[in-house]
Amino acid sequence: MASDIKLLGYVAAALFFFMAIMLLLTLRQAVRVRGATQWVWSTLTVAIGIGLNTSQEIVPPILGITLANVMIISGAALGACGTFAYRYQRLPSLRWLYVGVAALIVAFMYPELNLAARILLVAFATGVICVWHAWLMLAGSRVRPNAAGVKHARFRVPHGVMVLGLLMVATVFGIRAVDTLVNMRSNIPLGGPTRTTFVFYAVGLAGRLILLIGMVLVLIDELGQQLRTLALRDSLTGLFNRRGLKDAASAQSLADCSLLMMDLDHFTAVNDDFGHYQGDHVISLLARCAQANLPANAVLARLGGEEFCALLPQANLAAATANAESLRAAFQRDSATLGHTRQHTVSIGVASAQSATTTLSQLMTRADQALYRAKRDGRNRVEIADAV
Ligand code: GH3
Ligand code: MG
Ligand code: MG
Repeated sequence: MASDIKLLGYVAAALFFFMAIMLLLTLRQAVRVRGATQWVWSTLTVAIGIGLNTSQEIVPPILGITLANVMIISGAALGACGTFAYRYQRLPSLRWLYVGVAALIVAFMYPELNLAARILLVAFATGVICVWHAWLMLAGSRVRPNAAGVKHARFRVPHGVMVLGLLMVATVFGIRAVDTLVNMRSNIPLGGPTRTTFVFYAVGLAGRLILLIGMVLVLIDELGQQLRTLALRDSLTGLFNRRGLKDAASAQSLADCSLLMMDLDHFTAVNDDFGHYQGDHVISLLARCAQANLPANAVLARLGGEEFCALLPQANLAAATANAESLRAAFQRDSATLGHTRQHTVSIGVASAQSATTTLSQLMTRADQALYRAKRDGRNRVEIADAV
């Protein structure tokens, strides 16, 4: 049985090491996933800790017991810190981690600390950390999207896989703690590698492995999300691009929709007078004004250059025109905050769906004709498309 456990330990250490490399490779594909670096370090730390712990008979106790246990526990804590950073987009204060590591080193170097006490310490520390880690992943799904609209609150199957792994490890260590306490009371000698120890060990390692697989899956999920963002969103404003608009529009019926086409007025002159960089500020301002002044369910897109489009679900022509008018006025007013020597304006064309079979391109063509009229009739105005 002892050699079985040893074999399991070495296999696990090697497997975790490869998982760390897999995490690193996945991380290199996905740009900036907060917390993932901590996941990689946590995996490496646990892998080395398990390797050392398994080599107890061939390395000095300071490595095989003290360093090994400290690495396994602090590795688990580092993984939880990574998940904290993933959810809340900032690292937690690491002060308590240093204090914890120092306390563990002192405890494991204390010569009187017997095996039962060591097992209890490891089981308690790891169990608490795993429950906290799982809680961060679960409760973190209530985190609100950040300013860029990125939802770190997503909770999908990969996140669930991580929670499953963590709960498995926590359960195993919980049972191990209770088992140790019961055995201590009835004075049964501890530590001998029994069938139960082997099962504990195997299930605990399986839990850790599931956690690591979950981490890799979360990174792949994030990568997919980043690709979708790149494909469907405009990088300057964060609004949909043309393809994103088509995607979003195809997911709903257009029968009761209205559509606004917007184009900034005299934008060539804005660029000439204030520079391209300031021009980009004006473009971003219109995006923010649209987000603030149009209904929350509006699908907003930057079609290119300084042309925007807003699809308004469940909005009739009157409501959409009122929305367009308040956006036009808000943009002119807010453009004063840019500190340019003049205000900026936008022209808007409005069209409403007139049948259940209206398509996006029909709506866009009609709104565009109204926009053209708004330009021709003096700009800084809202015009309504002719009925078909
Ligand atoms: P109008 O009032 O008739 O719309 O006149 P306009 O000058 O705005 O004409 P148009 O709509 O054709 O403007 C296109 C200009 O927008 C040309 C280009 O310099 C500018 N532009 C296009 N894309 C960008 C961009 O990404 N950033 C900046 N700063 N300017 C852009
Ligand atoms: Mg223009
Ligand atoms: Mg234009």
